[in-house]
Amino acid sequence: MKKIAFFCIPAHGHTNPMLPVAAELVRRGNTVRFYSFNEFENKIKATGADFVSCDEFLGELTEKEEAGLKNVSTTEMTIQDIRITLNMDSFLDEEFKTFQPDVVYSDSVCFWGKLNAWKHNVPLVVSTSTFAFNQMASQYMKNSPKELADMIFGLPKISKALKTLEPYGYKVKNALSLVQSDNKTDSVVYTSERFQPYSESFSNHYAFVGPSVFSKVQPDKDKERPLIYISMGTVINDRPDFYAKCIEALKDENLDVIISCGNALDISVLGELPENIKVYPYVDQLDILSKADAFITHCGMNSVSESLYMATPMVLYPQTGEQQAVARRAKEIGAGVMLANDSVDEIRSAVLEILNNDSYAAGAKECSKDFRSCSGTVGAAEFIENAPHDSDGIDILDELNKSNGKIQIAYWTVVAFLIVLFGLLISWKYVWIIGISAGALLTPITKKILNKRYNSIVKKAKRE
Ligand code: UDP
Repeated sequence: MKKIAFFCIPAHGHTNPMLPVAAELVRRGNTVRFYSFNEFENKIKATGADFVSCDEFLGELTEKEEAGLKNVSTTEMTIQDIRITLNMDSFLDEEFKTFQPDVVYSDSVCFWGKLNAWKHNVPLVVSTSTFAFNQMASQYMKNSPKELADMIFGLPKISKALKTLEPYGYKVKNALSLVQSDNKTDSVVYTSERFQPYSESFSNHYAFVGPSVFSKVQPDKDKERPLIYISMGTVINDRPDFYAKCIEALKDENLDVIISCGNALDISVLGELPENIKVYPYVDQLDILSKADAFITHCGMNSVSESLYMATPMVLYPQTGEQQAVARRAKEIGAGVMLANDSVDEIRSAVLEILNNDSYAAGAKECSKDFRSCSGTVGAAEFIENAPHDSDGIDILDELNKSNGKIQIAYWTVVAFLIVLFGLLISWKYVWIIGISAGALLTPITKKILNKRYNSIVKKAKRE
């Protein structure tokens, strides 16, 4: 029997998938101590784990910081992660001394969990509530200009904040090394190998266990008229404009609609509701999805996984780069329609497309079967109990990085040759055009070559 310390940030989407894993570990006789926040106390206690409140370490936020967090600013989230780690330092030193965990199970963006596992030399398993993102899988992300600007302009601030960790014994190379999935860290990912983009690029330090859900309910779509469920998740859900458009789009259709709008919205702003539309601040999402025929979703990883688990096809309306990646994969497996814009007509036509074309339901059903055949919470519990894990087999990312080095050298050698040739034969005055063009073409060209190389390494690895 093991003593396992769970750590998570204060977010439903990150905490929810850890709960069935905690319950399973407790059921198997392990002691689970879950460091979390009062908002989640009841849910955590219901798993049988010991709840440890960390609210006092959150600290006061300025209005600007609060707005940054609400808008899922990577910079603001990183700064707060570092601040909370520092606030918790002496408390966790004491906790690690007294509880002496055998394993730390920490959310992938919960710095204080990961950093303390490393500081106290306790085996770490990372809980990954989105896709695992390495250099290959990140190609699925499409960050908006606003997100990119936030990341670029936030870098100096983040580097400065990371330095404040050093005197406390936390060693960090850079922010990316703290959040990106690498092939040496034991990680549980709540999806299947089939749904994870570029799953072959992950080593056997990864357990793809399928969605972590408590429900064993089977989908049951049998009813008089279709049911459409709408939710923008639990973070950026204050979207009365979007809910109003959905209501307008669906009020005259022969179907029922349930909207989960979050606690921040005063439902009365949506006016008098048509008879076929109900709006709630929070619902039992899995239960509704088991009956729903289409889900209009912001494409949070949990929402999409739960939808596919319940064989519900989706209207995809991603809001962040990470959600873009999830949406893109759901579309690729034929289980969803991407909203081109959020106009009333577009919403209506996407919903009707899902209802009138069986292929989306079939795509979702196939994925549901795949998810239900994964090792699930039992697999996650076993993986955590048996950490740390050994590596064997070839590390596809290592191989790829070696190839990348060679590709870069070859590319710049050819460019240098072309520059000299151009200078000698035409004019030295304009060689800068070749230099700039080569710089601009570097990413698309190397990406293409690397993807080809990736496929051949994967083929080779499968043969071995
Ligand atoms: N959720 C729920 N009821 C609601 C709205 C959301 O139970 O009315 C749950 C949902 O089942 C999922 C989580 O909240 O597990 C949302 O996570 P997701 O990753 O989809 O989005 P986020 O809230 O992190 O943006």
